[in-house]
This record gives sequence, structure tokens and C-alpha cells, in this order.
Amino acid sequence: MRVLIIGSGGREHALAWKVAQSPRVSQVYVAPGNAGTRLEPHTSNVDIAADDVAALLAFAQREKIDLTIVGPEAPLVIGLCDTFASAGLRCFGPSRLAARLEGSKAFTKDFLKRHGIPTAAYAKFTRDDFDAAWVRAQRAPLVVKADGLAAGKGVVICATQEEAVGTAQDMFAGRFGKAGDLVVVEEFLEGEEASFIAMVDGKTVLPLATSQDHKRLGDADAGPNTGGMGAYSPAPVVTPQMHERIMREVMLPTVAALAREGTPYLGFLYAGVMIHPDGTPNVLEFNCRFGDPETQPILARMRSDLTALCDAALDGQLAGVEVQWDPRAAVGVVLAAGGYPDTVRKGDVIHGLDAAAKLPGKIFHAGTALNEAGKVVTSGGRVLCAVGLGTTVRAAQKQAYELVGAVCWEGMQYRKDIGFRAIARES
Ligand code: AMP
Repeated sequence: MRVLIIGSGGREHALAWKVAQSPRVSQVYVAPGNAGTRLEPHTSNVDIAADDVAALLAFAQREKIDLTIVGPEAPLVIGLCDTFASAGLRCFGPSRLAARLEGSKAFTKDFLKRHGIPTAAYAKFTRDDFDAAWVRAQRAPLVVKADGLAAGKGVVICATQEEAVGTAQDMFAGRFGKAGDLVVVEEFLEGEEASFIAMVDGKTVLPLATSQDHKRLGDADAGPNTGGMGAYSPAPVVTPQMHERIMREVMLPTVAALAREGTPYLGFLYAGVMIHPDGTPNVLEFNCRFGDPETQPILARMRSDLTALCDAALDGQLAGVEVQWDPRAAVGVVLAAGGYPDTVRKGDVIHGLDAAAKLPGKIFHAGTALNEAGKVVTSGGRVLCAVGLGTTVRAAQKQAYELVGAVCWEGMQYRKDIGFRAIARES
């Protein structure tokens, strides 16, 4: 079969690498891909942007693509899967209406409240009905969120009520463009965060291996928020009891309610939860796609054929399906360009990739490109993700950092402590 992966990050490299291993797959295309996908066997990059729905559809029809897997949220939120489905193409991802779970924070908060799914208390405002007095009457800290997609930057944790008022006003003034026309102000939740990612076929929720990511730039969770500096799987914070609770209180009611409301969910569904010290799994957010960098360690552990799982989901046949996992742990360390998460320099040659390829583990590319001389160069903020496997998280971490030690470029930065919470639990 011929598979199209849409996107260009580390998640998409991991999806393409995994799919290319399937004996059912003859050719993988990645649109637009990166240097890593370009260099994988049976895999080609296609120079079409991830949100150019018309060009992607024309390509998929011309190349007789049997299965499309969408990596990033933007094409899902604008309805790529609806367009593909109308043309009779099999595309694994939610419809535009189901993707509102990520595309609109206000929609999601109202949805969670309507269905009694645990989440932080909140209010939502437009510029015209903004109630600064209400915000000033809340307990700080407060979290202010732009409603729409803001490339992972639309959430601001405010230490004081005044800061929250100012942040909301900045959003109304256009700091995140149209994404800030509507703003959610919510209670700050205590606890430990976990990611819960599943495949969904409209009614059945098939959980994938658990994982936890590291959003802050610096060691010990210091510094600014990023797209994610590393992740590992499994995540011991999601104990079997917590797994059962998240399924019962979050995933199953969400998928059932979406189906009842006429917008059944097909695709990867990612719940970001904050586990309160009393055990309540409060939903922080939903993502309508696989996580980045969680995809890299999770797929490094997946033994089942991902294309068969996607096919089963598209046929509404996930009930009773089991996913086979490598019992070892996986740790993925993100290597970022200097200056990330702000403006980064591009075009620096990455050294050591050939040496790293001879080591155990796998380096996935994200912001990379090939220059005219055929050398792999940096072309984005998050550049690589080095994934190691091991019988413990500590052993997986060691393997990942051996890969990290093999590569370098000017300004490369990374965290030295990916997996620290799990390692603390192990010892
Ligand atoms: P979101 O995109 O909604 O997941 O928010 C990004 C990050 O902000 C989350 O991963 C949390 O670390 C943090 N965050 C969001 N909402 C809250 C909240 N209500 N309380 C505490 N932290 C939050």
C-alpha cells in the first residue's frame, strides 16, 4: 500500500519511519517532510505545505494513496479529513468539527462542563464582554488562554489578577491574531501533568502506551515553555488505577459525547491532564493529533503495524484490537537550535549523524533540511530527537544521551534530565 504522511516535524519522521517498516507498505510520501524523512528507505518527500489541502488532495488522487495520516493540527482544524473523505480517500484524523477539541479552547471548556468531565473552573470573554472585575475577584495564579490555535504559545500563566487582566487585553488587541478574539480565563491547577494518547474509531478508545513530556526549556523544569524538550514512555505517573480513571472519567465520556452530538471522533486523541494530589484527572487540553515529542518514544516501542491499526479505526473496528509493545522504556531527548524557543539561526551544518546512526537507538529529525552540498543543516527550533531504549527509564536515558553525545552543531542546546521523574520513582 501507498501511504501519505502530512507534516514536517519529529512526529512525522517517526510516523514515516514506523509505517515504512510495515510489510504491507511499498511507498511512503511525506508532505513536506524534512531531511530525516528524505533519507529513510521507501520514503520520499513531496514539496507541498501541510495546510495546502487542495494540492494534497490532488497529489493523493494522482498517486493513488491508500492511507493518509495527518501529523499536525492545522490541516485537521481546517477540514483536510472532510475533504479527503468526500473524495473517497482514507484519511486517519478527525473531521473539522471533531477537531474543534483542539481548535477552540472555549468550545472544549463548554463541552467538558456540559458533560461533567473534570477540568479547571473558567470563564470566557470577548473584547466586548470582558469583565475585569470578575478576573480581579478570582484567586491568583490564573491561566489565560487564547481560544484558537497559537502554535503552542497561547497559554499564559499569570501570577497576579492584574497580570491576567493585562494578558487578556493583549490577546484582544491581537497578540495572537484572531486566535485571541475569544479568551478563556481559568483557575490554576496543582498537580503532575501526564499525556494520555489514544486511537479512536468513532466509538472505541484504544489507548496507546503512556508517556510524559517536558515542556520547559531548562533542567528541573525551569525557564520558558516550549513545544516540548523531551518525552519518555511508559510514564509511571499513570498507574494502572490512574489509567482506568482517565479512561472512565475523560476518554470514554468525551468520545461518547462527541458521537451523541453528531461529531464522532476518528484519529489520534491526546488528553493533557493535570493529576490533582487527590487523584482527579483534570483535563488541561485536548489535542486532535499525536504529540510531539511523545510520538517518537511511543512509536519506538510500538510492535504492532500502525497502518493496520489506522485501517481498523477507519473501518470502525478497533473494539477488541490489542496493541503490542516493546516492554522496554524509551526516552526521547530533543536537541534544539540556539535561541529556541525564540528566534533561531538556521543553516548550521549538523555533525556526527553518520556516527550516531551506528549506535543503538534512533535519531528522528524535526527542523532539518539538506543544503546544496547535500549536508544536513538546521532549519527550525527543535532540530532532532534522540530516542534510546532500555530495560529501565534510566537505561533508556543513558542510550539516548549517548546518541546526543555523537552529534553537534553551533548553538545546540538540550536538557540533561529527560525522564527525571520516572527515574526518581525507579530508585
Ligand atoms: P495547554 O495548551 O492548555 O495544555 O497549556 C499549556 C501548558 O500550560 C500546560 O501543559 C500546563 O503546563 C499549563 N497549564 C494550562 N492550563 C493550566 C491550568 N489550568 N493550571 C495549571 N497549568 C496549566
